[in-house]
This record gives sequence, C-alpha cells and structure tokens, in this order.
Amino acid sequence: MKTSTPLIELKAVDRRYETGLLALQGLNLQVGAGEFISLIGPSGCGKSTVLRLVAGLDRPTAGQVLCEGEVVKAPTGLAGFVFQEPTLMPWANVSTNVELPLRLRGGMSAAQRDQTARAALAQVGLAEFADAAPKELSGGMKMRAAMARALVTQPSLLLLDEPFAALDEITRFALNEVLLQLWRPEGAKAPAFTAVFVTHSLYEAVYLSQRVLVMGSRPGRIVDEVVVDAPYPRDASFRSSAVFAAACGRLSQALAEASAESVLG
Ligand code: ADP
Ligand code: MG
Repeated sequence: MKTSTPLIELKAVDRRYETGLLALQGLNLQVGAGEFISLIGPSGCGKSTVLRLVAGLDRPTAGQVLCEGEVVKAPTGLAGFVFQEPTLMPWANVSTNVELPLRLRGGMSAAQRDQTARAALAQVGLAEFADAAPKELSGGMKMRAAMARALVTQPSLLLLDEPFAALDEITRFALNEVLLQLWRPEGAKAPAFTAVFVTHSLYEAVYLSQRVLVMGSRPGRIVDEVVVDAPYPRDASFRSSAVFAAACGRLSQALAEASAESVLG
C-alpha cells in the first residue's frame, strides 16, 4: 500500500511543549494514500499531538511533518477531523451543522451546500434527520452527523481522535461499520480517503485497520506495529476469526510492554 511518496510522513519529529514537557521524541511515521491505520497507546503518550501535527494545527520543535512531500506549515485543508465530542451547534439543525465546513470554505451557493450536506447525511444513514435539532439525536446519531460534517468537503485525509470512546459497544460496532463503508464504499475501486484513527480499544483498532501502530510514552514515540492481514469488506464474522484473535494477541502484548515501560520509565 505504500507508494513512492507517502501521503503523510513524520521524520524524526520532536514536540516539546512550552511547559518543557517532551511529548514526542524522534517519531517516524509514514502513511500511504488510502491506508487505514490506527494509533494506540497509554493515555498521555502523544496520540492527539500526532494528529494535530498531521493536520497542521501544531508544529514540531524538531524534525519534519510532510504531506504529499511538502512540509506542513499550516492547516492543510486536506484533513477532516472527528473528535470524541460531536460538538454540534445546538441552535442549528443537523444539515446546517453539517454544511458548516462548506460555508467556511466558500464557493458554493446555499442550495448546493444544502444538497451536499444532505447527501453526506444520507451516507451516514441520517437522511431523515437533516431537519432535526441536534438534541433530538442519540449519541450515536450525533457522532454520525459529526462524521458527515468532517467528510462534507470530501477531504483526502480523515483524522479521528477516539471518536467512539463514549458510546456503548453496540453503537460503537455500528459506527465502525459506517466508518469502513465511508472509507471503502461498496464497489469502489479505491478508498475514499486515508484514515488515521486513535483509539483506546485494541479490538476496535484491529477490526478497522490495515496497520496498528503502538505508541509508548515519556517521551512519546512509536514502539511497535501490528499488520492486520485481513481483506475488506470486513464484517462481524471477522471478530471471531483466527486472524483477528492473533492480531489482538500481538497487540495486547505490545501494549503491555509499552505501558510497562512508561510506568517504569
Ligand atoms: P494522548 O492523546 O496520547 O493522551 P496528548 O497528545 O494529548 O496525549 O498529550 C501528550 C502529552 O503532552 C501529555 O503529557 C499532555 O499532558 C501533554 N500536552 C498536550 N498538550 C499540551 C499543551 N498544549 N501544553 C503542554 N502539554 C501538553
Ligand atoms: Mg488524546
């Protein structure tokens, strides 16, 4: 899946915060166009920092962050972001929330924006809730709307920071399906975007990803990688397969080692 120029490349990246804390040190990462990767690691190891650097919302204190071979100096406009909090504006209906990135970008008529937002809502199964108020939506539906908003501009990169962590497991499984369906729509030849997914759940990381990168802390860096060698589309039966169990086993061990190091270190 790795192409000659990776979509994203972090080269020997350090991020020392103004407090003096060295959040990341010597971090190397390559993500190929269309890949689905997950980042997993103990709390505070720098996962969100990596996503902010990739999005151009933060700058490294040493090393380089490259996007399509160019040094990232500002928000790229290439990336959509999904956080744990859906952060919908409570006073605006769902479609108005979803069209916000189009409004900020400009260049579309109100009618075009509305149509594009409704199409994005249909993709996440919320067509019938376009005119609803956010408070009428369940937690899972709010997250679907947040995903529609992140994808409404058709970004080539989707950054997800523990998006489903606050949801119950049934809802989380359903949203895993929605996300994979958005990433690789049925019948499509190529993935619709590149995904970098941060999660605390190793099962979720394995279910979704082609590769799972394990981070260690103090300072944050990548300590291991588990390749999940299973084809897509994946469905519920994948969760009970031998490949799934083996990848979870490997990842669990890698995480235990990373966490033990951070406790001792
Ligand atoms: P994670 O997402 O893996 O939990 P973060 O990337 O949020 O980790 O944070 C990594 C480390 O950097 C943590 O110790 C956190 O407290 C610290 N940190 C994050 N943001 C800042 C900031 N703006 N200023 C100072 N320290 C920060
Ligand atoms: Mg975080």
